[in-house]
Order: sequence, then C-alpha cells, then structure tokens
Amino acid sequence: MCAVDRFYAARQARYGWMHEELDHWDKGSRMRVLEVTRWLEQGWMEREGKPLFNLASNHYLGLCPWLDEAALMDVKAECFAAGEDGVRIGSGASRLVAGHDPLHAALERDMANFKQRDRCLVFSSGYMANVGVISALVGRHDTVFSDRLNHASLNDGVILSRAEHIRYPHRDMNRLEHSLRKWSGARSTRRKGLIVTDGVFSMDGTVAPLEDLVSLAERYGTMLMVDEAHSGGVYGIGGRGLCHAARVHQRIDVVMGTFGKAFGAVGAYVAADEVLIRYLINRARTLVYSTGLPPLMAAIVHRRLREVQAADEARDRLVRHAALFRARLRAGGLNIGAGDSHIVPVLLGSDKRAVAAGQALAEAGVAGIAIRPPTVPEGSARIRFAPMASHQEADLIWAADQIIQVIGSLKEGATDETTF
Ligand SMILES: *Cc1c(COP(=O)(O)O)cnc(C)c1O
Repeated sequence: MCAVDRFYAARQARYGWMHEELDHWDKGSRMRVLEVTRWLEQGWMEREGKPLFNLASNHYLGLCPWLDEAALMDVKAECFAAGEDGVRIGSGASRLVAGHDPLHAALERDMANFKQRDRCLVFSSGYMANVGVISALVGRHDTVFSDRLNHASLNDGVILSRAEHIRYPHRDMNRLEHSLRKWSGARSTRRKGLIVTDGVFSMDGTVAPLEDLVSLAERYGTMLMVDEAHSGGVYGIGGRGLCHAARVHQRIDVVMGTFGKAFGAVGAYVAADEVLIRYLINRARTLVYSTGLPPLMAAIVHRRLREVQAADEARDRLVRHAALFRARLRAGGLNIGAGDSHIVPVLLGSDKRAVAAGQALAEAGVAGIAIRPPTVPEGSARIRFAPMASHQEADLIWAADQIIQVIGSLKEGATDETTF
C-alpha cells in the first residue's frame, strides 16, 4: 500500500460513525442526494435525460431563468453607468472593508423605495440575512418567540444569538400571547423580546396572521420580524410583499426577503428604519465577516426588481394556477392542508410514503420533492408542489391528474401510514 492509500484507509476507519449514520438515514427513507437538473422552457426540467414538469422550485413568477443577450446588455450598461470599468465579478472583500460597490448602493436605494422603508441592507443569501439579523438584534438575556413552522435559517439565527427560544404552535396567537404575558411580567426593563415569523410558510403554504402579530408586538413591547422569502414579488402592489398587502409594512421592525425565489436570482434584503440598518451594519456578523454579494449579481437583481414590479400579469397567472391546482388536487381527494397560497403541500405522513410518492411521480413525469423531517415535524412528510406563472394550464391539469393517480394508488399499498 502506498502512503496515500494508507492515509485514505485510516481516514475511512475514523469515518465509521459517518457511514453508520448514512446507512441509518438510507434505511429510514431519510437520505438526501444531489441530482443534476437542467431547466427547460415553460416550467419544465430534465433529470437524467428525462423531462419532468417542474413543481419543485421556488421560481414562482417564472421570470426568464437565463441571462439572455438583452439582459446581459442591460447589466453591462448598468455597470458602466455606475462608473465601473467593466462587469465586476467579486466584491473582493466584506462590504465593510473594500467590497461596497456602487451597484450595491443603487440596489439598496431602490429596494428601500420598493419596500417603502427608510433603508434596505442587502445580504448574500436569505440564510445569511436571517442568521445575521437575529443574532445582532438579541442576545443571551433576551427572548425570541417564533412560530413552530418557521424556516430553519430563523431558528439557526436564534441559536447563534444564545437568546431564550420560545416556539409557539403554528399561528396560535393565544399561545403566543400567553408566553408574551408571562415574559413581560417577569422581565427586567432592559431585556428585549423579538417575535419572528415566516410570511408565507415555506412547506405549508399557510399565511401568518400579520395584523394580530403586529398588535401583540406593540402591546407587549417586542420587536417583530417577518420573513417574506415566499411572499416577496408575489403579493401586494408591484410584488411589494405580504406585509404591504396587509398594510402593516410600516409597523414591522424588520421585513426580510430573498432574491432567490420569485426574483429568480440570489441574495436577500432587510428593510427597516435607518437606525436599525446602521446597527446591523455594525453587528450582523454574516455581513461583517463575509464577502459581499457579487456586484454583477447586484446589477442582475436590480434589473430583476424592475421585472418583478412589472410582473402583474405573471402574478395574476400564478394566483389562477395555484387556485386551479389546489381545487383539482382537493377534488381528487388529497390532503393539501390548510393553506391558500401558491405553495401546495400534499400531506403523506410517513417518510417512506413521501419518498415512494416522489419516485412514482418522477416516473410519471412530474417533479415534486419529498420533504421529510427535520425540515417538517415528525410524521408530517409531504410532497411540496409549487405552480409557476410560466406553466401552461393544460400541463398543470395533466400534472394534477398524475399526482392524484400516483398518490391514490400509493394509498392502498401503504402499510406504515402515520396519522398526525
Ligand atoms: C429559502 C428561505 C430562506 C433562505 O433564503 P436563501 O436566499 O435561499 O438562503 C429563508 N427563509 C425562508 C422562509 C426561506 O424559504
């Protein structure tokens, strides 16, 4: 055995625990793998040479997924107009050091106008924004109240902050108020509270009761943060988001959203009062200690912002597609939960059923992804479907019928159905 082989063998021996856990996940239908996916026109995609109807993405508005010639020319023109000597690729540093490009500044200015708040701050992803914002705003002696179905990035932010974490049952305002009352009775004056919620819940398609949350935050003196990852670009005039549609955007401390979903790019923003943004610039570790969003991407997202604002027709189509798809699945006897948005889960219970359904659907030409714990609570595995504005109505009806057939025939064979 040569030295390299010896090192490799020794390392594999040390990785025994890893092999064991992977085997365990595999047996429990919990293994996750990467599958190369090529996107096609009109909301189709291709995997291993097989065309699949794409109901598995967050690309809700169906904006062109490619940087075509016209877009490339626009982006170039914007870079030169901003005083650049070309299309700059990397920020080259944290934005606090040497990486704050004129394109970041332009994007933040227009996003602040769009969100109708003092100021916006752009992060390189939604995950980074959530982790950075929460860990900056609260600390060891503070308390975060969060919906039990919030996105993992919000929970990870709370963990990094070391704050006390109180999770209330999904949309249960009575339970939240009960916790707030206890907390406010016991707290010393300098302790901070923060309520955090998804706007549209990513795996359920349900919508947060924003008016109630705003009233509770005001009554008990906590901050309120709303994650618009799935509602930005989709709801409200010009796609301004759910908080705007509910007319409460001025009363929410932190409105956060991403450029990776309806915007079809990558990155994220936080909209808030001037002072809060200045605070984040000093304290959000994922901003301070990480390379800024590529200036090229800032220019692409800036162009996307104009596309999103002009996408009323796509938003109307999305609403129609979601309603059509939901109605068809429900009429087909499937359990699609309590939501009413463009995110449509089909609840299946056990991991095994969800994985079997995902595979059978792929064979039938429909891509939906099996979502299992820990992404969703135990016993609530599901396939999450997301219609897009760019889908053809006939394709959507065909896909719904495939789903009803595949999941309907699964039912008879399933022996391990969990009730939840
Ligand atoms: C996707 C998502 C994020 C993370 O955003 P990325 O830009 O993909 O990192 C945050 N919050 C919610 C609710 C999400 O669905």
